[in-house]
Amino acid sequence: MTTTRFAPSPTGYIHVGNLRTALFNYLIAAKSGGTFILRLDDTDPERSKQEYADAIMEDLEWLGLTWDRVERQSDRLDRYEDAAQQLRDIGRFYEAFETPTELDLKRKKQLNMHKPPVYDRSALALSEDEKAALRAERGNGVWRFKLDHERIEWTDGILGDLSIDAASVSDPVLIRGDGQFLYTLASVCDDVDFGVTNVVRGSDHVTNTATQIQIIQALGGTLPAFAHHSLLTGPQGEALSKRLGTLALRDLREAGVQPAALLSLMARLGSSQPVELHGSLDEIIEGFDISTFGAAPTKFDVQDLYPLTGRYLAGLSVSEVAATLAELGVPAELAEPFWTVARENITTLKDLGPWWTLCRDGADPLIDDEDADFIAQAMTLLPDGPYTADSWGAWTNAVKDATGRKGRGLFMPLRKAVTGMTNGPDMSALMPLLQVIRAKG
Ligand code: GLU
Repeated sequence: MTTTRFAPSPTGYIHVGNLRTALFNYLIAAKSGGTFILRLDDTDPERSKQEYADAIMEDLEWLGLTWDRVERQSDRLDRYEDAAQQLRDIGRFYEAFETPTELDLKRKKQLNMHKPPVYDRSALALSEDEKAALRAERGNGVWRFKLDHERIEWTDGILGDLSIDAASVSDPVLIRGDGQFLYTLASVCDDVDFGVTNVVRGSDHVTNTATQIQIIQALGGTLPAFAHHSLLTGPQGEALSKRLGTLALRDLREAGVQPAALLSLMARLGSSQPVELHGSLDEIIEGFDISTFGAAPTKFDVQDLYPLTGRYLAGLSVSEVAATLAELGVPAELAEPFWTVARENITTLKDLGPWWTLCRDGADPLIDDEDADFIAQAMTLLPDGPYTADSWGAWTNAVKDATGRKGRGLFMPLRKAVTGMTNGPDMSALMPLLQVIRAKG
């Protein structure tokens, strides 16, 4: 039975980068009928906020990425304490007292000597008396997990065979001086206890995985399968980390991006499969295959979401947007013809507003000086409303007969006078929707 988890820290809103992680884990579980856990990594009481936890759930629900259960690390502190004791009992956990400044100095010295900046384990040499003295002077130390200095190897679901020399990694700190459990300890306890079978996360976690493998083994747990997806970059390959704040899922929703567009793009971007618009999660689940993803950084362009959104909307029936149309004030009898015309001319649903305003109130006419007389004459030939599907043909024929104009010279000035724009919907289809035509010439 497959169990996956998405484990955000509720310290901010989730963005497109997080979405990839959430989606991959969701899809793996969904594809095998397994369990998808939403795990809130909230061991930091200062930075974790309920408001962010609520926002994360709201964003996932908007996308239809529903979870089977929620777990909160803050509910499990006793369990982490037990695990810490277990590590102490087997001699894999030690207290260290260096201040951040001391650690920094050590790192600088190592780098100057062209050595990797790995914690030197001086704390292991401290006697009980020395530790008591340091504790009295500096308060409680941090607790570090003592890595076995051997190669840590696993076959990554995306990166293939990996091997990391544990001696090149510092013994990870699992408990802070103030007693706060850190992510690494909490995460391995949770993965073991919840029977997580597959962990997919960003490639910035590869070194964490190496240390987590040893901690899970020390705790007697079963190792999940790991896969590390590449990180997103901007369209030019530039780092996205600073811009991720502007790519929060709620901002994209606010901008009118549709879930189907976001899911279709993110479930295939960076894989060998083409990005295609999928109208439903079922289709996305069906074709998902983690092994088709590559290790290279994945270029993401937020602009790609808009054509996909437009195509998705163009495929919707009027009943699927009935609520939006009603909210805009489109009368029920016009909903169908209005949607038929509008859906081909919008990128997001936000574009519907201006189209409806045009239909209801008419547009400021756009009349070039040289067309002023022509439009004045044409307006005298405009049939009375309400307009029908035949109105445009009848009107343009009459204007053609009266003025001798034809082709673009006939149609374009009339379109501009009626809609205030140089392009837009088929005029025969638009005319029956127009309640007012304001052009006077
Ligand atoms: N809270 C961690 C993060 O957001 C979770 C990483 C993991 O999946 O283990 O980076």
